Amino acid sequence: MRALLQHHRTTSHRSPAHRAIRPSPIRQNLQAVIIRTGSVRTPWAEDLPANGLNEPPFLDPPRMAKILVCVAWPYASGPRHLGHAVSTFIPADIFARYHRMKRDEVLMVGGSDMHGTPVTVRADEEGVPPNVIAERYHALHERNIEQLGVRYDLYWNTADPHHKAWVQEIFLALKAKGHVYEAVMVSPFCTTDQRFLPDRYVEGTCPHCGFPRARGDQCENCGNLLDPFELKDPKCKIHGTTPIPKETRHFFFRLSAFEKPLAKWAAKDKEHWRHHVLTFMRSWLREGLKDRPITRDLDWGIEVPVPGYETKRIYVWFEAVMGYLTATREWYRRGNQPDGWKDFWYDPEARHYYFVGKDNIVFHAIFWPAILLGSDAKLDLPYDVTATQYLNFSGEKMSAGRGKGVWLSDLLERFDPDQLRYYGVATMPETKDTDFEWEDFAQRNNSELLAVYGNFVHRALTFADKNFDHAVPAAYFLDAADKKMIRAIEQQWNKVGQNLEYVHLKDAMKEAIQLARLGNQYFDQKAPWELIKKDRVACGTVLHVALRVGRSLAIIMAPFLPFSSSRLWRALGYDTDVHAQTWDEALEDVPTGQALRVGKPLFTKIDLSDTKETPADRFDLRVAQIADVQEHPNADNLYILEVDIGGERRQIVAG
Ligand SMILES: [Zn+2]
Ligand SMILES: [Zn+2]
Repeated sequence: MRALLQHHRTTSHRSPAHRAIRPSPIRQNLQAVIIRTGSVRTPWAEDLPANGLNEPPFLDPPRMAKILVCVAWPYASGPRHLGHAVSTFIPADIFARYHRMKRDEVLMVGGSDMHGTPVTVRADEEGVPPNVIAERYHALHERNIEQLGVRYDLYWNTADPHHKAWVQEIFLALKAKGHVYEAVMVSPFCTTDQRFLPDRYVEGTCPHCGFPRARGDQCENCGNLLDPFELKDPKCKIHGTTPIPKETRHFFFRLSAFEKPLAKWAAKDKEHWRHHVLTFMRSWLREGLKDRPITRDLDWGIEVPVPGYETKRIYVWFEAVMGYLTATREWYRRGNQPDGWKDFWYDPEARHYYFVGKDNIVFHAIFWPAILLGSDAKLDLPYDVTATQYLNFSGEKMSAGRGKGVWLSDLLERFDPDQLRYYGVATMPETKDTDFEWEDFAQRNNSELLAVYGNFVHRALTFADKNFDHAVPAAYFLDAADKKMIRAIEQQWNKVGQNLEYVHLKDAMKEAIQLARLGNQYFDQKAPWELIKKDRVACGTVLHVALRVGRSLAIIMAPFLPFSSSRLWRALGYDTDVHAQTWDEALEDVPTGQALRVGKPLFTKIDLSDTKETPADRFDLRVAQIADVQEHPNADNLYILEVDIGGERRQIVAG
C-alpha cells in the first residue's frame, strides 16, 4: 500500500495554483463578441468596422461556469472492457476537455474502487490478499486511462487514508443526525466455513428476468437490485451449498426519510436529463424507498468507526459514491487549500455531471443525493446523471465480472487510442444498447475517420506542401464558394458546441465529421489540381481556405480525438499545444506563410485480417479437476461429473 500511495503522490496532478489558464480580458471580450453577434472573425477588410480598427465593444466578460465532472469508480478487481470506458471515462473526458477549452472552471475526479466483494472474490480465486489485487488493477486502470488520453484532474483510489477518514466523518455525522441507525437483519450464512456470505458470494436465478447466474446484490442481466434470499435456488459461490438465513447486527441508512425531498427534487428542472434515467429514477421513487444496510460482515473495506464493529466494514456502495466529494477535498488538500472544495460543493451555480453506466443510476440518482441531503442540505445535488445503456459484445453485455468483453488493455496494444475513442463515441449507447462488432469497428474507422477526416486534411496539406513551397498560401479574392465554406466552419462549430452542452456526444462528433465532409466537397468542387494550371492565385486561396478548415478541425476535434488533433496541429506548422487553445479560437484563420510539417496521414487503415479472432478465441478452454462422479440416473453409459474450474463448480455429463 505504501508503494501505491507514494506512486500517487509522485504522479499527483496539476495543483490548483497553476490549473486555470485564465484568458486575458481582451480574449474574453472577443468571446463575448462572438456570442453576441455570431460573426466569424476573418482578417479581411470587409469585416472590419468603418473606423478600420478591430476593437471589441465594452461588454461584461462572460461568467465562467463551474463544472464538476464525476466519473464512476471502476472496481480494481480485473481489467476493464471497452464498454466501461465508453460509458464512463471517455464521455467524461470529452465533456471536461470541451469545458476546459471554453475556459470554464473544470474539475474532473474519480479513481479506482479498491473495496467490495469483486476484489475479494478475485483474491480468493488467486489465493492472495485483497490489497494485492486492488493495487495491481488500480495501476492497470491508471495506465489504460492515460493511454486513452483521458485526463483526470485527480485519478484517486478509495484505499487512501484521507478517503477513509472523510467517509467515517460523514458516517458519524449522519449517525448523529439519526439518519444512520442499528438494527438486526438476516444474512445468508455458509455452514461449510461458518461465515456470513457477502452478496456477491451468493448466486441464483433472478426472480425478475430468470437469468440463471444473478448475484445476491444485483442481476447483471436486467439491472434490478436484489436481496440474496430473493434469488431462486441461492447457492454459495465457493462451495455450491445452500446458505442458511442467520441474524446479524448492522447499521442502516434511513433512506425512507428522503422519499419526499427526493421526489420534490426529481420533479424540478430535469428537462435536460436523459429520458431513460428519469424514467428509472421516478419509478424507484414511485415504488417507495426502503432503508438499506450500510455495513456488512467482511474484513476488506473501510472500518466502521463504532466499538463492537471490528469484524464489519462499511458497505462499498455507501462509501464509493462519497468519493466524488472526498476526491474534490483531496485535490484541494494537495494544493494547500483545505477549504477550496467548498467552492464546488456549496455553490448553487456549480454544475455536477455524473458519468455512469445504467446499472449505476440508482446509486447516483437516489442513494447519493439522499446521503448528500442527510449530511448537509446545502450541498450541491447532481445537475445531471448522464447514464449510458450497455455496449454489448455479440449481443451480451460486456461485463468484467463475467470475464466477457473486449479488454481495454488488449485493444490499446493493437490500435491508435483515437480509433478506439472514435468508435466508442460513434457507437455510444446514449439512449439504447449498442453492439461492438469487429467489422463495424474497422469499417467506421476506414470509411469515416480515415476516408472523410484523415483524407481531407491530408489532401490539403500535401497539395499545399508540394505546390506552395511547404507553407500556407495567401488568400486573395474570396468567391461565394469560399465564403460558404468559411461560414460552414462557424455553423458546424456551433452545432458541435450545442450538442456538447447537452452531453449529446454522438451527435456532436457527427457534426464535427460533417465539417470534414464539407471540406472534401469544397476541395472536389474547386479541383485545385486543375485550377493550379490556370490560376495559381485562385488555387492558393482554395488551399488557404482548406487549411483553415483543417485548423478548425484540429481544435473542434481536440476533445474527441486528442492525439490526432495534436498531430494535425503540428502538421499545420504550430509549435503550441492544440489543447491549450480556446474553443472560440476554432474560428480564427490560419496564418499565411506558416511553414507546414507534412508527415504521415492522420490515421491508419484497420485491416480485419490482423484483428479477427482465431477459431480458438471463440472457446473458453479450461482445465478442471474432477471433484465427484455419479452415475447418470437416466442413462446407463453416462456419468455426471462435478468439476472444479478454480473456485467454481460445474456439472457436466460424460460418456
Ligand atoms: Zn434479472
Ligand atoms: Zn460456502
